[in-house]
Amino acid sequence: MNIILLGPPGAGKGTQAKRLEERRGLVQLSTGDMLRAAVEAKTPYGLKAKAVMERGDLVSDDIVVAIIAERLDEPDVKQGFILDGFPRNRAQAEALDAMLAGKKLTLDAVIELAADDEALIERITGRYTCATCGKGYHDRFEKPKTAGVCDICCGTGFTRRADDNEETVRSRLGVYHQQTAPLTAYYGAKGKLKTVDGMADIDDVTRRLEEVLAAG
Ligand code: AMP
Repeated sequence: MNIILLGPPGAGKGTQAKRLEERRGLVQLSTGDMLRAAVEAKTPYGLKAKAVMERGDLVSDDIVVAIIAERLDEPDVKQGFILDGFPRNRAQAEALDAMLAGKKLTLDAVIELAADDEALIERITGRYTCATCGKGYHDRFEKPKTAGVCDICCGTGFTRRADDNEETVRSRLGVYHQQTAPLTAYYGAKGKLKTVDGMADIDDVTRRLEEVLAAG
């Protein structure tokens, strides 16, 4: 099964993609994660993308389409994949259609996680992760049991994404509404779009996602 998770930053695409990965053996393809890894490794793509990401703008279509095209050729993709953060505009959606046709892959569903802007700002600006094991936390909603110590691995180092500050989040939401939200109409017209309330509890969202996928 191949699906796209669509939705604004902070709607829970990454969290839900990881759950679907565990439950269904699908592979999460997150362009944000791939770009952050490229920035960290200072690759040519990463060097180009860094400042753009820090502003909250979209990295050029050429770069992300090339990254996804390469990734879709890896063997694990045959298990089925979840696209998380791609496509982000009409040009990327059209490039994806062409890529999938060329690689004889099909898209089963596009699921929009709908969420409210002000709640998203609170969610995103408070989130951080354990630097050792990657467990996610939140300043208000999910604190470690012992302050400063990861519940899972006892690590004491934590990181925040460079683009999770309020100014950049507002800009990312603006970009989402202008360029990405219109993709709901694009996939709606193809009969592929389903919408799930991304403001519900994490477990409820997972349950709804599973129901929507089971309904086909
Ligand atoms: P994300 O982790 O999906 O929130 O993405 C973080 C940042 O990476 C975005 O704000 C963009 O700067 C960049 N990015 C991720 N995916 C894409 C994409 N499909 N197209 C363009 N830029 C992207």
